[in-house]
Amino acid sequence: MGKRRIAIIGGGASGMIAAITAGRSGADVTVFERNDRVGKKLLATGNGQCNLTNLNCDRSHFHGEDPDFVTDVFKCFTINDTLNFFNSLGALTVSENDGRTYPRTYQASTILDVLRFELESCGVRVKTQTPIISVKKNRSGFTLQSADTRFISDAVIIACGSRAAPQLGGTTSGIDLLKSLGHRATATFPVLVPLKTDFLHSRHLKGTKVLANITLFINDKSITSEYGEVLFTEYGLSGPPVIQLSILVNSALQQNNNVKCTVDLFPDKTHAELKDHLHKRFTKKPTVSIETTLIGFIHKRLITSVISESGITDLKSLSSTIDIRDTDRIASTVKNWAFTINGSLSWNDAHICAGGIKTSEFNNVTMESRLIKGLFVSGEVLDVTGDCGGYNLQWAWSSGFAAGQSAVKVEL
Ligand SMILES: Cc1cc2nc3c(=O)[nH]c(=O)nc-3n(C[C@H](O)[C@H](O)[C@H](O)COP(=O)(O)OP(=O)(O)OC[C@H]3O[C@@H](n4cnc5c(N)ncnc54)[C@H](O)[C@@H]3O)c2cc1C
Repeated sequence: MGKRRIAIIGGGASGMIAAITAGRSGADVTVFERNDRVGKKLLATGNGQCNLTNLNCDRSHFHGEDPDFVTDVFKCFTINDTLNFFNSLGALTVSENDGRTYPRTYQASTILDVLRFELESCGVRVKTQTPIISVKKNRSGFTLQSADTRFISDAVIIACGSRAAPQLGGTTSGIDLLKSLGHRATATFPVLVPLKTDFLHSRHLKGTKVLANITLFINDKSITSEYGEVLFTEYGLSGPPVIQLSILVNSALQQNNNVKCTVDLFPDKTHAELKDHLHKRFTKKPTVSIETTLIGFIHKRLITSVISESGITDLKSLSSTIDIRDTDRIASTVKNWAFTINGSLSWNDAHICAGGIKTSEFNNVTMESRLIKGLFVSGEVLDVTGDCGGYNLQWAWSSGFAAGQSAVKVEL
């Protein structure tokens, strides 16, 4: 019996690890990549530093129709397996306090390089600039079609990722190919993406960063909070805690819910403490303008917005004119600055795609299709959405490994 021929469509994170896994088992593996090189998106991950996994990775960090789908796949290739895998390829890793793990070099290129070298040493063929436009199943296996060539294989792994970040190769191609083979997809929308707000001063605040607690409200009900560096932009809000909330925000907006958030610039102080502090501050400098008195209290670029948001129209009026209701309102603004969220930036700015091919149509251990024998999937093409923090790459590694391992066992 000859070697099993395995075709992997997509040379991203999950496609590369699937290819290495299958190649190590002695299969005849070909990776088809539409870009001019593999791993273009991987190079951009973690701001070029590649947050490759998270030590706290478990199903609680995943969203989709069935978040439990990830559990068995993570047992098949654990976080430790991921660390050992990259260490054995020569890429040392470092884990931060919150579990986020990076290559010790903090260079995404390290991860891509070791994967490329290993593809080569496993004898995997890589065909770049070869977008696969159709996949057909026949009695003897699969026929893959590119613009000008036909390829035959015994098993196929579709690892095409999602349409997030089209400038890095994001495309709907994976979903389209799987739909043509009879699979179904849930609705997709961009997530891990900055949010648009109704706030009128946004342009003026552009580029201002503050450490804050941000709380999400859906239909006026408090849902969850995130703490971290919030970035004010010309369209609304960004920064890690905002991007993290975007999964819940965009899912709620899809269902026409009313979405708001509050920014707390003083999570370590109560409203009463702030009121007291502001009262003392204004009393101490009665002949100085309100605007000047607030220097050192909050970020300088936020001062005018906070004052007007608190209903005080004259920035130049003296601190002596401030009464108890004014200090109460300023304390409320800095503690609970409310923004209506009316959307997000789009696919170009999204890290990932929520939704995708229905997980119920795949085996959650082997990643094989329940509809077509010999057809496998891995990575983001599925309806598996991880939080920000290394969870999506861990999903790509684990599902890619599972698919690669199972594809070599497919019966001919
Ligand atoms: C800017 C940015 C930063 C990110 N940072 C992080 C991070 O730090 N940590 C983290 O965990 N996640 C991060 N992510 C998410 C992470 O990159 C993805 O979840 C992960 O790459 C998905 O792996 P994949 O193999 O499924 O898809 P991809 O890595 O996207 O690979 C799919 C590949 O398939 C190719 N392809 C598609 N269709 C075809 C076709 N028809 N024929 C041939 N080739 C095809 C594409 O060109 C692409 O190379 C980030 C994403 C972005 C955009």
